[in-house]
Amino acid sequence: MIPGAFEFHAVNTVQEALKLLNAHEDAKIIAGGHSLLPMMKLRFAEPTHLIDINGIPSLKGITEEGDSLHIGAMTNENELIRSELLQRRCPLLVEVAKLIADPQIRNRGTIGGDIAHGDPGNDHPAVMMALDAEFVIQSEQGERVVPANGFFLGTYWTGLEDGELISSIRVPAFSADTGFGFHKLKRKTGDFATAAATVVLRLQGDRVEHIRIAMTNVGPCAFRAEAAERILLGNSPSDALIEEAALAVQSACEPVKDLSGDEEYKAAMAAEMMRRALHDALQTAGATA
Ligand code: FAD
Repeated sequence: MIPGAFEFHAVNTVQEALKLLNAHEDAKIIAGGHSLLPMMKLRFAEPTHLIDINGIPSLKGITEEGDSLHIGAMTNENELIRSELLQRRCPLLVEVAKLIADPQIRNRGTIGGDIAHGDPGNDHPAVMMALDAEFVIQSEQGERVVPANGFFLGTYWTGLEDGELISSIRVPAFSADTGFGFHKLKRKTGDFATAAATVVLRLQGDRVEHIRIAMTNVGPCAFRAEAAERILLGNSPSDALIEEAALAVQSACEPVKDLSGDEEYKAAMAAEMMRRALHDALQTAGATA
């Protein structure tokens, strides 16, 4: 339970962090430390250089640029919860952050770390996919912007390359008619999700004109339930159609059996989380039925 030896570097600029990342092959960034330190204590991760990016002011804070919200990668969960801007322009993120871990972890754990870690149990990856978010990634070679959809490749495996860090996250701000829902089953406070579902949608009349359904902890990584989306898109969401979509979610899941339940239970719970999130999304979008 004691990590291997490492050299600690506290940096004040992104450039310093990138230089160190490039100079040391087995260097790792440390943000809130709430995923990395447990991995180090178990010796699943053994970086010999830790680059602490907590002292970089440009990586913190939330701003509005046109219809886009820019969230610094080092913004922690409590800052997301307290953000008046997010409460107004992307309340989904506030609701999600409230259900992550416990108050102490929310005070240190960052949105960038949650995304970069690639843990299928982390909530932000699926939420980012449902929001059509983009990640701003920096390296010594420059900057690239990548969509959340396509970034999560497998368990602890993302599109981040060696020598790169996530500097910010861009989220399209909600319009007045954006519907959203997030439901997460967990056994107790502080647990990761047994299964969670995020739904973002817009209606035109009583028909679904835009929909994203994304799932947490019921596959090797966060994923979009695209078959379920196709069932609902362009249609009026009747009870029968919602049931069809829920069954499509259930069959798309590939959960791992553990102390929270077996594969069949988790897939059924994922479908139920989707039903509830969809119901909330329809209500917040102003559906009349
Ligand atoms: P760190 O632990 O510092 O880093 C994690 C990884 O990301 C490391 O590999 C690091 O090098 C890399 N990294 C960090 N920041 C960047 C960056 N800007 N660019 C590139 N790479 C970077 N999370 C949930 O979503 N939902 C939960 O329900 C939940 N429950 C939890 C329960 C417990 C008991 C614990 C210990 C954690 C839980 N977490 C949960 C995870 C928690 O939210 C972590 O804080 C989060 O996964 C990682 O964020 P961090 O800032 O602590 O990152």
